[in-house]
Amino acid sequence: MIYIGNHLTSSKGFEAMGKMAMALGGDTFAFFTRNPRGGSAKEIIPEDAKRLCELMPAQNFGKLVAHAPYTMNVCSAKEDIRQFSKDMLKEDMTRMEYVPENYYNFHPGSHTGLGTEVAISMIAEALNEALTSEMNTIVLLETMAGKGSEVGAIFEELRGIIDRVELKDKIGVCFDTCHVWDGGYDIVNNLDGVLEEFDRVIGLDRLKAVHFNDSLNDCGSHKDRHACIGEGKIGLEAMKRVVQHPLLQGKPFILETPNEDAGYAREIALVRSWMV
Ligand code: FE
Ligand code: FE
Ligand code: ZN
Repeated sequence: MIYIGNHLTSSKGFEAMGKMAMALGGDTFAFFTRNPRGGSAKEIIPEDAKRLCELMPAQNFGKLVAHAPYTMNVCSAKEDIRQFSKDMLKEDMTRMEYVPENYYNFHPGSHTGLGTEVAISMIAEALNEALTSEMNTIVLLETMAGKGSEVGAIFEELRGIIDRVELKDKIGVCFDTCHVWDGGYDIVNNLDGVLEEFDRVIGLDRLKAVHFNDSLNDCGSHKDRHACIGEGKIGLEAMKRVVQHPLLQGKPFILETPNEDAGYAREIALVRSWMV
């Protein structure tokens, strides 16, 4: 069994998102910690967060997978963007404490010309400044498609970041099926092999969540265009094998497919019908 849900908007608050997830048939969800395009964060109402924290165990929810804004880039060549991103990351860690024991996923970043090695050090430095031993959130590095100068399309790069992070129990990885495929890992013909490689390079104990997306493009395309489940190049059968894979059971799966509410409800039901 896995947990399934989709991205919801946080404008109406935490409890409203929990109820929305349930209305769509989900038992987890993702939300942006602030406007996905960046900017200031909405004020958190502690009682609202608390109501979600009560609703989740009562409804047997899996862990939530918060998402950092897309504008966050802690390894930008521009110093001001780097600093702004580090500040956002730190602030988001304190915000996540209102809904403790969940995940916070972020894109490692784009090196914008600095090169991968420099970027890896910068990402680790940002994490070392933001993570504290008291916090109750696990930060997830997302596997990336490798578009432009993105860091993290290769498992070794994620391993490089993790190696430099001091508080290793606070760090994990989110496995995005579209991104991994676009990054050149053939989850259609060799899902076992890809997971074996993940285990060898990073360790499967770090794989905490899945972004469950089909892809418009071919394996290794580095494009990052998501498709609805079964309507892309990964396809229905391969997507089903991901849901049913023994090594991925118990994890939250988040849909980031191009859908409205009705489409998400349909995909959630479809994934449920595959659950083992
Ligand atoms: Fe993402
Ligand atoms: Fe993703
Ligand atoms: Zn993507």
